[in-house]
Amino acid sequence: MKREEKSLTKYRRLLEFLLLEDGKTLEEVAKILGISRQALYSEIRKMGIDLKKRNAQWFAMHLGVPQLANADWLLQQKGKVTLRGLARKLGVSPTFLKAQIQRLGLDLKDFKRKPSQLVIVHCAWCNAPVAVKPSKLKKQKYFFCSKQHLGKWLARNRKARKAIYDPEIVDEFIRSNWQTMTDVEMAEQLSISVETVKRKRRKLGLKRR
Ligand SMILES: [Zn+2]
Repeated sequence: MKREEKSLTKYRRLLEFLLLEDGKTLEEVAKILGISRQALYSEIRKMGIDLKKRNAQWFAMHLGVPQLANADWLLQQKGKVTLRGLARKLGVSPTFLKAQIQRLGLDLKDFKRKPSQLVIVHCAWCNAPVAVKPSKLKKQKYFFCSKQHLGKWLARNRKARKAIYDPEIVDEFIRSNWQTMTDVEMAEQLSISVETVKRKRRKLGLKRR
């Protein structure tokens, strides 16, 4: 035992490297040395090697995800993706990623989600500016400042109704207005039949007494 201790002390730097930087677990190193995990643990404690001091590199190596130790790469991702999204991309939990960012000495605040940027489009009926999320531009062709203007636009563009191509929009109109408007009024606004309004309304689970 005494002899073993001596030889291990000689390899302090190497053990430190393996256990704190190179992603090796206590079990793995103990196996390499042919001693028990417990024996290794007591040795490194005597040497003052603290497993709590595992650095960012160690975790990246241990998990086999080199980006986790690449501060430049991580900094390039901020703003492009949320912290949660980034964690998912790297296959780790958000909590782990936060700790890793701190281990790298980066500022966690830099990775917090920024309020989503809005873009200005114009109401297809009155041309008033409307702020929408950029993702909406892909799904929707026409935008409206209000439900009323959507209704008016639909009424005029009877045949072009599908041109909005967000099938949800009629449902949304019904959902927002069914308590203050009759089915006949909504049908007029949407320029669809009263029967269709009723069917859609019931399908949405909005039942009149
Ligand atoms: Zn408008």
